[in-house]
Amino acid sequence: MMPRQWLRVLPAALLLAVPCARSWGPEGHRVVVIMASQHLQPQTAARVQQLLGAESLEDASTWADQIAHSTRPETIPWHFIDIPLYDSRIDMRRECPRAQCVVARTEQFLTVLGNPDADRQSRREALEFVLHFVADLHQPLHCEDHNDRGGNAQRVIFEGHPDNLHWVWDTGLVEEMDRDPRALAASLEREITPQERAAWERGTIEDWVLESHRLAAQVAYRRAWVFFPAVLDRSYDLRAEAAIRLQLERASVRLAWLLNQRLA
Ligand SMILES: [Zn+2]
Repeated sequence: MMPRQWLRVLPAALLLAVPCARSWGPEGHRVVVIMASQHLQPQTAARVQQLLGAESLEDASTWADQIAHSTRPETIPWHFIDIPLYDSRIDMRRECPRAQCVVARTEQFLTVLGNPDADRQSRREALEFVLHFVADLHQPLHCEDHNDRGGNAQRVIFEGHPDNLHWVWDTGLVEEMDRDPRALAASLEREITPQERAAWERGTIEDWVLESHRLAAQVAYRRAWVFFPAVLDRSYDLRAEAAIRLQLERASVRLAWLLNQRLA
């Protein structure tokens, strides 16, 4: 039998071998679309299913990662934007050259999705990218860089094991909350008040990216870190989990809102 600690360390070791893993893990993406699907207008839901055919919404939400790490590596930069950690604004010319970032690509695919004259295959692909990128841009470490490839090169000790900070936020803390995406979606859904829903259903992609970026600076990184790997203690985990819950909730509300605008 494989020692238990290896089961824990192996996925992290594999990720360290990948030059730049940048995405919520599959669970984060599934949670966001499970929640969003409950707030689609009937006509929007029908159009989504028409475009996806036999593919489920949950499978469609992780397609962008599958192609990024197999047939279309040129799409990897579309999943994030490298805004310096302690900057307070986006410099699109520097951080999004040739539309190679999550801001430009999300806006571009939303336009295609909302264009009834675009061909079906283009709209289907646009939908799959939108399902994925609206979630990704709510992951704080997708919206910053601290000369560490968005935390991928930031070595930390999480629950006693070596990992990198990006993985902890993409996957480690999400799985720690609940490994069942349906159960996690249900518990997050219960937390959203009508006032929050109304407040989140506004703004632009850039506003949401800056909101994510602020959480990276305020919660994900600690200026006091001097020695590496930094040890993430319980108080760190609790603050980070609260931020992640909030971001998954916001992503789901905004995804449903955008889809209802483009497809209803
Ligand atoms: Zn991604």
